[in-house]
Amino acid sequence: MVENLVIIGSGPAGYTAAIYAGRAQLNPLMFEGFSVGGVPGGQLMTTTEVENYPGFAQGITGPNLMKEMRQQAQRWGARLIREDVIKVDFSQRPFIITADETEVQALAVIICTGATAKRLHILGEEEFWNNGISACAICDGASPLFRNTEVAVVGGGDSAAEEALYLTKYASLVYLLVRRDRLRASKTMQERLFAHTQIKIHWHTVPVVAYGDEILQGIQVQNTLTKEVSEFSVNGLFYAIGHTPNTRLFQGQITLDEQGYIITKGKSTATNVEGVWAAGDVQDHHYRQAITAAGTGCMAALEAERWLSQKG
Ligand code: FAD
Repeated sequence: MVENLVIIGSGPAGYTAAIYAGRAQLNPLMFEGFSVGGVPGGQLMTTTEVENYPGFAQGITGPNLMKEMRQQAQRWGARLIREDVIKVDFSQRPFIITADETEVQALAVIICTGATAKRLHILGEEEFWNNGISACAICDGASPLFRNTEVAVVGGGDSAAEEALYLTKYASLVYLLVRRDRLRASKTMQERLFAHTQIKIHWHTVPVVAYGDEILQGIQVQNTLTKEVSEFSVNGLFYAIGHTPNTRLFQGQITLDEQGYIITKGKSTATNVEGVWAAGDVQDHHYRQAITAAGTGCMAALEAERWLSQKG
């Protein structure tokens, strides 16, 4: 049997694509993945409260949101297989998708394998992850944990600059810790950072230890030139050091940009291979939000449905 549509990945993008494809009676098959995080549901399985996903006025926990999406996909007939896809062959039609124990043929494929935030793996990071340490200021910055406190952002690019500026709405002071002696952020961003009275930039500085008592209370930082260690009493430590898109498996099969993100065409979710679409963080290094992932998952399913119905 040849599948109509295979969806790879089970975050907000994948489940939304599955809901739309299921309702369009495409009988989608989803490989939910296993090795990234060990459970289906994607990045939101690693967080507590999600306060910005529309429809939940009081917020919802990440795992509960994903449980609802998963059940909704199943309700519309999506078949879910908890395996990692380990190989794809887009050079022949139908496409061949090989997972840990299952191999299928498919007319169309939607890739929703997401991305993984880079971490520093400093001492104390595991203990204070979600209790002061975060990889998303837009997601977590408004938490009461950080209101009128001092926080630190790590990174020197546009994301770090954006996150530092965003955090000034809540925190009283934001330390921007930059490994080198200059920023990679755009000139305009740099000017905004330098002009902001609530932002203090520390050059040649990296965090080395996070400490506290159940929640983060401070960090030790090291000067990369002098090796001198000092301390900051901060309640928040935000990593803005980039993400790694989960696309190794697609190298040589579809076009990726230099950072490994899947390139989609114009305002669509189409990749360079006809019949293959990409949605969510795997093709988005700008917004990286659950709602935008879900939005592009919806787009991909609609585009796939139209393409399949034209093919007859
Ligand atoms: P992901 O959620 O990354 O899911 C990708 C899925 O693909 C995973 O299930 C993975 O197992 C699977 N996969 C990977 N490789 C394979 C493979 N080879 N085969 C099969 N499956 C595979 N956003 C918000 O809007 N609000 C928030 O409050 C918020 N908080 C966050 C907190 C944290 C700690 C983090 C890390 C992110 C947060 N985000 C938040 C961002 C949000 O989680 C992401 O933007 C969103 O999850 C992206 O969805 P996605 O479907 O593209 O991918």
